Amino acid sequence: MVDKVTDGILWVAGRDRFMPDSHIYILGDVNSNDLTIIDCGIVEMGDYKLGELENHGISLEQVKRIIMTHTHLDHIGCLREFLDKGPHIQVWVHKDEATYLEQGDDRIVFGNKMFESMIRSQYSIPAGFFQFKVDRKLAGGEILDLGGQQFKVIHVPGHSIGSIGLYDEARKIFISGDTIYADGAIGRYDLFSADPDKLKESLEIIADLKIDTLLPCHNRIVKGGADQMIKNTVQHWLPMLR
Ligand SMILES: [Zn+2]
Ligand SMILES: [Zn+2]
Repeated sequence: MVDKVTDGILWVAGRDRFMPDSHIYILGDVNSNDLTIIDCGIVEMGDYKLGELENHGISLEQVKRIIMTHTHLDHIGCLREFLDKGPHIQVWVHKDEATYLEQGDDRIVFGNKMFESMIRSQYSIPAGFFQFKVDRKLAGGEILDLGGQQFKVIHVPGHSIGSIGLYDEARKIFISGDTIYADGAIGRYDLFSADPDKLKESLEIIADLKIDTLLPCHNRIVKGGADQMIKNTVQHWLPMLR
């Protein structure tokens, strides 16, 4: 189901099966042709996500770009399905993960060899499936105009090297990817390109932002009043990341 977060932000919850599936967020005015999708989901979830959008009257024709919070399989797995149906759509990724995608190096996508063999036993994934042209490489710090809404790119490495969050400073909304979730959880930091030291710094950066609405890519979203929860989560985890 497509649900409204607030004006100009919709979301479709991930549908977890034996592997997690990321939520997607849709930014912009649904009557415009300047929509942005954040993340896609796990392999073979394209039909589900695109079907939900269609039921809500949103066509891929209206989507200008897909921004990846990072390139783990549960987020990028069905990007190919989106692009097959919307070849005009641009892909924006942080530069530190863009290089991997462009070279078809899927080590970040799978995270580790154990996940890779598990996934390959469940899905048939052709060679080059995770090789993509990246239209815009994000650095962190830039302010993106996404259909009239301003989001600042916050580079938050740690869960993966090119993880980003998107921050609407005016409305205190933070799309956190897998770096921090609701209810005290943070992203894992044991997969390829992860780094607990960097994650610690990233969490400190997040704790300094004023955040009312927390939009992670898994589990519950928090509409309003997220600030104290985030600060408590960061305080809880910092000693463990030293
Ligand atoms: Zn992840
Ligand atoms: Zn994830």
